[in-house]
Amino acid sequence: MRAALGSVWLSNLRQQNVWRIHPNQLEAGVAVGKLPKSWQTGGPNCADLPKWQVHEYNPDFFILRESGCTHYEKPFLYLIFGSDRALLEDTGAGQVETAAIVMDIVAQWARRNNKGTVPLVVMHSHSHSDHTAGDAQFKDKPNVQFIAAAVPEIQKAFGIENWPMDIGRIDLGGRILDVIPIPGHNEASIALYDRAKESL
Ligand SMILES: [Zn+2]
Repeated sequence: MRAALGSVWLSNLRQQNVWRIHPNQLEAGVAVGKLPKSWQTGGPNCADLPKWQVHEYNPDFFILRESGCTHYEKPFLYLIFGSDRALLEDTGAGQVETAAIVMDIVAQWARRNNKGTVPLVVMHSHSHSDHTAGDAQFKDKPNVQFIAAAVPEIQKAFGIENWPMDIGRIDLGGRILDVIPIPGHNEASIALYDRAKESL
C-alpha cells in the first residue's frame, strides 16, 4: 500500500509539470489533469453557494464536492468516463440531490463526444450513509447500473471471486479500473485504481 501511495504522489508531481505544457494530453499513456487551488467548504452565506462544486479534472474525469451547507461531511464524488460508459463513485450525504447534476454532466459529456446515451455505473467507496444518501435517486433510472454497497453485489458486479483477497475490475471502454477490496473502515470498503490516470 505504501508503494501505491508513493506512485500516486510522484504521478501528481509529474502531472503538474506536464499540465503547463500540454493540457489534456497524455504523458507516457497517463491522462493528466488539474486540481483546483481550493474547495468551497460552505458558508458564510449558504444562499450564495451552489449545492455542488463540480471540478473538471480533465475532460474524462470529474470531481464533485457536496457543499458543507447541505451536509457537514462535504463528501467528494468521482465521475469517470471511458469510451463506452461512465462510473460514479458514491452518491452524497444527507438531504442531497445528486442524480440531477450527475446526469447533466453525463449528458454534456455525451454531446461533447458525439454520443447518444452513455450508460452510467453507480458504485460506492463503502456503505456508510455519507456515501450512499443519494442511492434511491439512481436505483431505477434508465441507463443506470446500480451496484449496492454490499459485498455480494460488489463481488458479482466486478468479478471478485474471493473477498477480500482478489482484485476485480471494470472496463469503461479503453479505460480499466481495478476494484480492490480494502475492508476495515467498513466491510464493503473498496479502492479504485485508475490505470489511465495511474491513481488510486
Ligand atoms: Zn465511512
